[in-house]
Amino acid sequence: TSSTTASQIAAIDAHSAHNYHPLPLVMATADGAWMTDVEGRRYLDLLAGYSALNFGHGNRRILAAAKAQLERVTLTSRAFHHDRFAAFCDQLAQLCGMEMVLPMNTGAEAVETAVKTARKWGYRVKGVPAEMAKIVVAGNNFHGRTTTIISFSTDPEARADFGPYTPGFEIVPYGDLTAMREALTENTVAVLLEPIQGEAGVLMPPAGYLPAVRELTRERNVLFVADEIQSGLGRTGRTFACEHEGVVPDAYVLGKALGGGVVPVSAVVSSAEVLGVFRPGEHGSTFGGNPLACAVSLEVIAMLRTGEFQARATELGAHLHRELGLLTGTGRVTEVRGRGLWAGVDIARAYGTGREVSEKLMDRGVLVKDTHGVTIRIAPPLVIGKEDLDWGLAQLRAVLGV
Ligand code: PLP
Repeated sequence: TSSTTASQIAAIDAHSAHNYHPLPLVMATADGAWMTDVEGRRYLDLLAGYSALNFGHGNRRILAAAKAQLERVTLTSRAFHHDRFAAFCDQLAQLCGMEMVLPMNTGAEAVETAVKTARKWGYRVKGVPAEMAKIVVAGNNFHGRTTTIISFSTDPEARADFGPYTPGFEIVPYGDLTAMREALTENTVAVLLEPIQGEAGVLMPPAGYLPAVRELTRERNVLFVADEIQSGLGRTGRTFACEHEGVVPDAYVLGKALGGGVVPVSAVVSSAEVLGVFRPGEHGSTFGGNPLACAVSLEVIAMLRTGEFQARATELGAHLHRELGLLTGTGRVTEVRGRGLWAGVDIARAYGTGREVSEKLMDRGVLVKDTHGVTIRIAPPLVIGKEDLDWGLAQLRAVLGV
């Protein structure tokens, strides 16, 4: 690292809380699937902001929508309506095949909103006795960082010294249908799941699990809430990861790519029966559903409606998984999981930790992020060119010595 990078990182270390362990890079600009650091070095971005950048850096359509809206009105608060809100709610609900939208900003806020929605639905519609509502979640989940959300995390690092924790959650192993069936009681208001567990290492549900949970929740009058914050909006080759399994949940929780990599936009999208439970004053957010967010998000929705990005993720994703599959044959990689342009790659111990491989890739101009020691995550912007992806994969092969 040269002096500019080193001095910036020293200042960051001195003045920002150490709640992350970033790769030692300081970015200055970005375009499409490429980023340039303060030294002028270029890097291929195979992380895409944990899927917040599905449409790439500096996407022209998204920037144009944002710039046009910047000149009109950016914030009204929900004290007044604004003229982008109707279209945003209508078109997002349509994209999801749902009826109503409750906009927030970050993913964690939308998950919190889903938790509150499910509880209120439980008391007001299902008839659960006061204070008794229970929500069933999966082990190894990642739904965000608020005190309530980490209350149902199984990751000791996410929880340590943040108690006391919010009650009302039961954790069952992901993929274990029997445990799920046994966990549901008459007071269960919702099952909250990631259709593919992203932060856990791109863990796939066992075949038939999601449809079985869907059937079970329908039978037991329990809401099936799908956290598609990372898996949704094109990443897996469909608009929603649930679609691959023919599953329609009762509510989607969306975030990340919904804001086009420009602004934080998240939402709970559901039926009128479910989101209709809210009355004025019961929930809100100053920035939730603001005009800039809606304008950017409307462009994202329009782009997803073309199906072009889902098709790209399907095609390039098949190529990615074919190429990564070849690595398992070399013994360098023990397992590859995922769907579409999304992969968790477990590195064989002898060939380094996920962090070491990420650092070596960085030295070769490729950006990925490790998780849980042995895994690297690959989730390029869906706009990446095939040649660029192939170049990135060649760097991975070089790092692994094949
Ligand atoms: N839910 C899922 C599935 C996620 O992957 C994430 C972020 O990684 C979140 C929720 C939290 O989103 P945010 O970081 O915007 O609060």
